[in-house]
Amino acid sequence: MGRINQLSFEVANLIAAGEVVDRPSSVIKELVENSIDSGATRITVEIQHGGVLYMRVTDNGSGILPEDLPIAVRRHATSKIKDATDLEAIMTLGFRGEALAAISSVSDMRIISKVPDAAMGASIEVNSGRVGRVTEQGAQDGTTVIVENLFANVPARLKFLKRDITEAAAVIGVAEKIAMSHPEIAFRVISDGNMKLDSPGDGRLISAVRAVYGKDIALSLLPVDCTVGGVRAYGYISSPSAPRANRNYQNFFINSRYVKTRTGSAALEQAYTSYIPPEKFPGCVINLELSPASVDVNVHPSKLEVKFSNERPVFECIYHAVRDALTTNTLKP
Ligand code: ADP
Ligand code: MG
Repeated sequence: MGRINQLSFEVANLIAAGEVVDRPSSVIKELVENSIDSGATRITVEIQHGGVLYMRVTDNGSGILPEDLPIAVRRHATSKIKDATDLEAIMTLGFRGEALAAISSVSDMRIISKVPDAAMGASIEVNSGRVGRVTEQGAQDGTTVIVENLFANVPARLKFLKRDITEAAAVIGVAEKIAMSHPEIAFRVISDGNMKLDSPGDGRLISAVRAVYGKDIALSLLPVDCTVGGVRAYGYISSPSAPRANRNYQNFFINSRYVKTRTGSAALEQAYTSYIPPEKFPGCVINLELSPASVDVNVHPSKLEVKFSNERPVFECIYHAVRDALTTNTLKP
């Protein structure tokens, strides 16, 4: 009798789910990214108890066909790519076909959706990975995903969740970054009945930044915009007179995808050398536009990390964009 077990489909799915979903904010990130990929112009996020007990994301996007609902919640099922060549230049936020499968394996999920030209919508329920039947249902155009009782079937995960208020703050933080990465989308976040974010979706980055950081900060920002070697960096940087104690105010987007990039932070901080004290940090909201083929987003299931085929132009572009703005907008340090 050998000692190695082939894990069941269910256990394998639970393990994989852990890489995509570790707390309510990662669920919201995936659901909202799906809404953006669906072409929505209006997205509303509602959570209760930090999202652990209840999360709902509503969009007015393309919707899901009734016959696609059971497929959408399967692993590796996606409408966004077809074959390996599509991985070379990803145009959508999602592509792995894992989020709905992962989330629904560790929660009670309900999807209600209607494609614009259908008379009726449809819904499906998945409870801890058990997929129910599709039923016809009246609905608005677009998709609503409700996720309840996150990790009720994974006590080990549940134990690691923080207090509701901390989880809610993480949800709001993710939503704020996504709202700033898509100023053309009207974006709302409601937590326990209170409006926490209301981005107008007028297409102006500064409007989304104002919705997140408030009018005063928005007014003190310096605009940046520069194209170097096929890379464009544009957005806003913090005034040298208002440096920050940490990097929390550094927001980088690549082709409108929120990412973490050390190259970005390094270029930004180097450009501020001699403008702010060495123990302080600049803030920014910078979107990088570059060819999707020159950046690999398939580094980690969370898609927060990216790999540039060439770091140099990215660094130079950000550095010059920031340095130019600092020298033209402020007195010499
Ligand atoms: P991925 O986003 O990587 O394709 P997901 O598991 O997140 O994988 O979603 C599976 C599929 O379900 C998507 O490819 C898409 O076709 C559909 N889908 C999910 N959410 C939405 C939504 N809000 N609106 C329209 N279609 C959606
Ligand atoms: Mg997705």
